[in-house]
Amino acid sequence: MPGNMTFDTLKKLVGDGSIDTVLVCIIDMQGRLMGKRFHAQNFVETSYEETHCCNYLLATDLEMATPDGYASTSWRSGYGDYVMKPDLDTLRPVPWLPGTAMVLCDLLDHHTHEPVPHSPRAVLKRQLARLEAMGFDAMMATELEFFLFEKSFDDIRKGGFRELDPISGYNEDYHILQTTKEEAIMRPIRNHLYAAGIPVENSKGEAESGQEELNIRYAAALDCADHHTIAKHAVKEIAWQQGHAATFLPKWHHDRVGSSSHVHQSLWKDGKPAFYEKDSELGMSELMRNYMAGLIAYAPDYTFFLAPYVNSYKRFMKGTFAPTKTVWSVDNRTAGFRLCGDGTKGIRVECRIGGSDINPYLALAAMLAAGIKGIEDKMDLAPPTSGDVYEDKKAGEIPSTLRAATETLRNSAFLREAMGDDVVDHYTRAAEWEQEEFDRVVTDWEIARGFERA
Ligand code: ADP
Repeated sequence: MPGNMTFDTLKKLVGDGSIDTVLVCIIDMQGRLMGKRFHAQNFVETSYEETHCCNYLLATDLEMATPDGYASTSWRSGYGDYVMKPDLDTLRPVPWLPGTAMVLCDLLDHHTHEPVPHSPRAVLKRQLARLEAMGFDAMMATELEFFLFEKSFDDIRKGGFRELDPISGYNEDYHILQTTKEEAIMRPIRNHLYAAGIPVENSKGEAESGQEELNIRYAAALDCADHHTIAKHAVKEIAWQQGHAATFLPKWHHDRVGSSSHVHQSLWKDGKPAFYEKDSELGMSELMRNYMAGLIAYAPDYTFFLAPYVNSYKRFMKGTFAPTKTVWSVDNRTAGFRLCGDGTKGIRVECRIGGSDINPYLALAAMLAAGIKGIEDKMDLAPPTSGDVYEDKKAGEIPSTLRAATETLRNSAFLREAMGDDVVDHYTRAAEWEQEEFDRVVTDWEIARGFERA
């Protein structure tokens, strides 16, 4: 569902003094909330119409650098402004911060007021408009996995990121005893998000010390991406409030399990599940078979949107539940794509490739584009695989490094047609920059290995 506060309610709450701050946020390329904290009175009087931000926010990296090579903005063009246009449908309280509400914004060109094509919300809206023209709605759910740590973000940073002790001492998969010990963080996460209109289903312990998973009920794709972004932000803020750190880095240690973000997907028509057909094999409609065929065939093209950093690729290891093969299966967790809810109206496909570091808008958009292509070309779905897919030599592979995924993205005629050359070029540059930054740095591993012995 969209936000759970109307503009009239906000005005009333500002009037009686219960809200004094409005967070006015965009979603950046990394899937983070960026923006300004408005005095609520100013927001309800004028800024609800629009405000602005520097356009480098969509041409930067995790460190807020100003890399060259983007067509959209640069030092040469003077890094101008974008219009931040509040989407008042996303208004909601932020119950974990006193007196605070939040609104998400779309980004518009400063002069033409046209949507900025590479802004993550615009990238997703473009694919949703294509689906709508075909008569379909996309319902999606993203799972959020992350690790909690004993120490706070600041203490960990001051210690050079060396004192990384997870909050628990053992694998806590489905563990009620251990997760009770984490309730000081997890209970406010569930309850505050729920009160913010985000339909939390549950949280559970995951398969490693300190690893948690948060599940949110499936929703229309744009709402799903908004929910994911706000939930990820809330996890970090609430962990910080409690004196702890939470990380969504997919692989924070090579000996530990990684964190994923599996994506459940189904198409609906006139409020009915269009992937379901009662009397067909496994209850799959032809539409679902075509959608899945596209999703699988084009997985190498869009892997960057599921694994956008050098670290993302460290998660893809056999025997870890992180898939490397572009095949599907029925309820088998070693394949890249899993059929869930077969034979029921809840039938859906789960993509298991994405890491916890996805930008959900871009990931959902890329997968929908692949599914649409499968439907348009009436692509055939190969039979499901079974057994341990890691050992299947014939199964297709996803790119295993950021370098390889950058090339499949750059050369994807399908994504260029579906998303636009400007969008693909923009994110190809982001991928290149990430690799360039990594390549110039000397790592701890090289020093320890070679300092004396090389
Ligand atoms: P798992 O065992 O993989 O965690 P769950 O049964 O908990 O599976 O469901 C995972 C997610 O799938 C939930 O977030 C749920 O809301 C979502 N989901 C259920 N039905 C659908 C559907 N038809 N389309 C998309 N997502 C769905």
